[in-house]
Amino acid sequence: MNLHQKAQYISDTLEHLLGIPTWDGTEDILECLILTILSQNTTDVSRDKGYIQLREKFPTWEEVLQADANAVEETIKIVGLGKQKTETIKNFLSWLKAEYNVLSLEFIHDMQTEDALEFLIQHKGIGIKTASVTLSFACGREVFPVDTHILRISKRLGLITQNCSAEKAHLELPIIIPKGKTYPFHMNLIYFGRQICNARKPLCEKCPLTQHCLYYKENTQT
Ligand code: SF4
Repeated sequence: MNLHQKAQYISDTLEHLLGIPTWDGTEDILECLILTILSQNTTDVSRDKGYIQLREKFPTWEEVLQADANAVEETIKIVGLGKQKTETIKNFLSWLKAEYNVLSLEFIHDMQTEDALEFLIQHKGIGIKTASVTLSFACGREVFPVDTHILRISKRLGLITQNCSAEKAHLELPIIIPKGKTYPFHMNLIYFGRQICNARKPLCEKCPLTQHCLYYKENTQT
């Protein structure tokens, strides 16, 4: 079984086990980008609280842009790395206003996916994961964000090598994922990582993928 076939098998098996997640539809791209910047190295709960506090204090992006950096940092401190995230957000908004004279990213809908990725990752603080999450969730593009669950499971299942970085996985995994399946495969791997293939003690006895798992083979050898 080659890597394409293996990815297809895993995708099918997870859909059978967990269902087929469907993309909810277009979101505001700039909102999604800023929410994703806030989500770096924090929990979903803290990210959401930080985002709500930011929007309550500064209801428009223009107000965030014009605000004192310390005030923004104080508002989002619950998400951690407040100074760095404030700098990323304010620098991006400032650049967007200077270049496009609009605080919106809706023009990304007219860009090719590769161009849109390049466009976003040229900015300090916006890496391939943040750009991929934005393009996947806000625009429904065929990109594959790799978070900690996905990196771990992909290594255990041998879809990528053990020493593959998250950045490299963003380039390698989309090549082998079945066409049209990036979104459901992404979501199902996250659910699977939370429910079964968790980091510390994976529930291998409940897993339908043992036959294809390097981790399982290594850890059940007598
Ligand atoms: S066999 Fe265990 S380690 Fe392998 S994918 Fe399944 S739960 Fe994860």
